[in-house]
Parts: sequence; structure tokens; C-alpha cells
Amino acid sequence: MAILGTKTYKNFIGGEWVEAASGETFESTNPANGDTIGAFPKSGPEDVDRAVEAAKTAFEEWRFVPAPKRGEMLFRFAQLIQENKADLADLMSHEMGKVLAEAGGDVQEAIDMCLYMGGEGRRLFGQTTPSELREKFNMSVRMPIGVVGVITPWNFPIAIPSWKIAPALVAGNTVVFKPATDTPALGERFVELLAEAGVPAGVVNIVHGGGGAVGKRLVGHPDVPVITLTGSRETGVQVLKDAADNLKHVHLELGGKNAVIVMDDADLSLATEGIIWSAFGTTGQRCTAASRVIVHRDVYGALQSKLVAAAEKMRLGPGWEEDTDVGPLINRSALDKVHSYTGIGRDEGATLLTGGEIASGNGLGDGNFYRPTIFADVEPDMRIAQEEIFGPTSALIPVDSIDEAIRVANGVKYGLSSSIFTRDVNRAFRAMRDLDTGITYINAGTIGAEVHLPFGGTKDTGNGHREAGQAALDVFTEWKSIYVDYSGKLQKAQIDVAE
Ligand code: NAD
Repeated sequence: MAILGTKTYKNFIGGEWVEAASGETFESTNPANGDTIGAFPKSGPEDVDRAVEAAKTAFEEWRFVPAPKRGEMLFRFAQLIQENKADLADLMSHEMGKVLAEAGGDVQEAIDMCLYMGGEGRRLFGQTTPSELREKFNMSVRMPIGVVGVITPWNFPIAIPSWKIAPALVAGNTVVFKPATDTPALGERFVELLAEAGVPAGVVNIVHGGGGAVGKRLVGHPDVPVITLTGSRETGVQVLKDAADNLKHVHLELGGKNAVIVMDDADLSLATEGIIWSAFGTTGQRCTAASRVIVHRDVYGALQSKLVAAAEKMRLGPGWEEDTDVGPLINRSALDKVHSYTGIGRDEGATLLTGGEIASGNGLGDGNFYRPTIFADVEPDMRIAQEEIFGPTSALIPVDSIDEAIRVANGVKYGLSSSIFTRDVNRAFRAMRDLDTGITYINAGTIGAEVHLPFGGTKDTGNGHREAGQAALDVFTEWKSIYVDYSGKLQKAQIDVAE
């Protein structure tokens, strides 16, 4: 596929492609070589206001479209994504940088989510309950809320919008979508395909631009009752504060500092594969990336050698080349941040086993490439073991027991994903019970979520909501309890006790 170049893109508001009110644009660039992907509208508050108005108007009709019909549009959308899967993955490898196989996985997750949520169109279950009074009927139903502000990061540029937009739509809400400024072309394709699937004008709108101009206005807009954001902890805290005056529903999916525990009875080859995949897949730019490896001291040396050997075999290169294992980081400032943590780790006294440098040679110098990096002798309270680096850096922490391993794993402010490699069923069940994370894997890495289970984390990873699975519907609906009295007389609950 020819990758774009000089084309100028637009916002999609009320079913029309329009420029930003300012007429200004920003560029999206390829992180592997700096090529321009395209120019996108640099929108501001007035563009957001227009999109919210369109979404508010569309809500008045969309909420009456029968839910099974809304679901059928998601099925058509899933079909269109499937037909365009190879092109979307190729575009993703150019705009976001991830390797083709993983880009295909990102797109597949959107297909799975839309099929799952499309099915919700024929479920959206509420409850019926008995009444404490005669000739009275009780039920609860899910109601749509209104305009949903969807704010997404760049690291899963097709999957994450689907986790939010598919449940929002099937439940009868309308959407104003602000994708990350590093991946606007993918956001744009997502919305184009939704329109092609038959979603009516105004039901989904896209407004490109920065967090400060577009995101902040969306969060502050009085006619946007729901905000769903995936991003960093710092952004989440700001959004929560900005939404407080309007008492919005705010759904936050934030950072992680995920750990793999390797016990002395583990299959070390399996553990090595799981750790390498979790630490360096997507160049470590996953909220669920394994940036800590907590290892029983008896197998510490053996595991360390295996990990270093495997990391040093990985080939860096552009995501679209078939033999690439590790693509670039998203942008220059991410590269600088990741490299600064190598300095921090060294200064803290950790031992750099491999990596720790910006890659150059063979054209890599034109992109944001960083060598897979492993630190040993890491203490649990070091910054490299506490802070989200969001790059291909992992810290090995030695421990003496399962108790210590769980204590260290839980000793961070985040609580997204965790994993344990052990052949001991008792230890596995201890980990399932005691690891304080939203997701736990047994004998697998920290990544591999499926769309029909809740996704999200404890502690500072979020604010108690989940996306995916049935849990996602709670973000995008209000419960309404309905009491129908067919007795023909006034029956007073709790007072007129039925015989
Ligand atoms: P980010 O917080 O910088 O940006 C996320 C989005 O928020 C972007 O669209 C950005 O423009 C917007 N934004 C920024 N400031 C805003 C503001 N004040 N008001 C409204 N919107 C604003 O994050 P990022 O760099 O794009 O993504 C990386 C982060 O996302 C990491 O911390 C990662 O762990 C997290 N993440 C979490 C999950 C999860 O499910 N828990 C999944 C993927 C990524």
C-alpha cells in the first residue's frame, strides 16, 4: 500500500468532512524514518462545540433506533475492518510503528470487540425481580446517556477506539472522538469505515488536535456527560479534575508497572519467551508491558542469561519489514524519555545487562529506535522499578520466596496486569488471590487480554471502571429501575405489606 504523504485530511462532523475553524494543520510522521504521513486539522474549542452540537442532535434519533439494528451496524463495521485488515495493519506499521503481526492483532481486536458488542444489541440485559406488593411488576433497564467524549492514546490506534466506541454506540449514545495526534490517520480510517457501515450522520464525529485544545474542551463541555479516556496517569488526574464541576461520568484507563514473577519451579524457557514478548512487544509501549521481572534467587542467574541472549537476537527495524522484531518508539520525546531512564537506572546502582542505547546504523538513525534493555540487581524502590517508562526496558528483581515476590509485585502505585510462572498449583492460586491487579496470567506473560472479559486495573491504573466484556456497558449506560403497579389502587412500599 502506498502510504499517504502529502494529503490533507479533515474532521468529520455531522456527516461532513470539514476543515478546522482555524484552517491550521499538523503533520503525522512515520516514527521509523520521519516521512510525512499526512496533514490533519489542528482543531480548537469551536470545532469541538460544533461536533458536540451535531452529536447532541443525532442522539435524539439514534437512541430510538432499535438496539439490534445498532448492533447490525457494528457487524457491518466489523466486516469492513476485516476486508481492510491488511491495509489498516500496513498503515499502522507506518504511522504508529508496531510490527505487522502485532498491527494485525490490534486490528483483529477491533473486529472481535465489534462482533461482541454487536451481539449486545440483542441482549443489553436488565433484570426483572419480584415485587413485595401484589399486582406490581419490577424491572431495571439500561438507558443511553447522551454524547460520549472518546479520547485515545496512540499505542493501540484501532483497538482502543473500538473498546470505547462500539459499546457506546450499541447502548444508544453518540460520540465525539479525539484520537492521539501521533496516529490521526488511523483514527480517520476508523471513522470512515464506521460511516461506510451505515452509522448515520452526527452519530460519530472526529475532531483532530491536541489534548490541551480539543481534549480539554471535550472534558469541559457541559453537553458531554460521559468522558472515556485511555492515557497516562497524569492526564487522567487532570481530566478527572476538569470534569468535576459538571459531575461527569469519567472512565479512566491509565498506566501500568506490570510484573512477571518467575518461581524456582518454573519452566524457564517458557518464562523467557513470555517475558521477551511482554517486555519488548510493541517496543514496550503497552500499558500491560512487563517492565519488572521478579525472579526467585535460585533461578536468577539462569533466567538472566536466557533473557539477555533472547533480547540480543531481536532485530530492530521498520514495522512493515517481515523480519523485524522491534519497531521504533512513537516519537523523539519518547526516545529521550526511555534513554533518560537508562541513566537513572545506572545512577541508582542497577546493572545494565544489555541495550541501554539509541540504535543507529542500517538506517535506524532516521527513526526512534532503542535497543531492548535489561537491568539486573534492581531494588524494588528504585525509580526504574516504580515508574512507567513505556519503552523496551525491563528490570530484574531477585527475591527469596513467593511471599516476597507478591509483596514486591504489589509495591507500586499501579495495578493493571501481573503474571506468574510456576508449576505449583498452590502458588498459582496464591498469586490469583493476592496479586493486586485487574488482570493476572498464570504461565503466560502480562499481555494477551480477550475482549469478552473486563479489562482495566486497580489503584492508580484507573478509577474503578472496566472496559471490554459486560463491564464496559456500565460506563455507557445509566440504570433505570421501573415499577409498574397494576392493582388500580395506591399501594405504599414498605408500609402496605402484602399478605
Ligand atoms: P497521554 O495521556 O499523553 O494522552 C492520551 C490522550 O489524552 C491523547 O489523545 C491526548 O491528546 C489526550 N490529552 C492529553 N491531555 C489532555 C487533557 N488535559 N484533557 C483531555 N485530553 C488530554 O497518553 P499517551 O502518551 O497517548 O499514551 C500512553 C499512556 O496511555 C501510558 O501511560 C499507557 O500506560 C496508557 N495506556 C493505558 C491503557 C489501559 O488500558 N490502561 C492502554 C493503553 C495505554
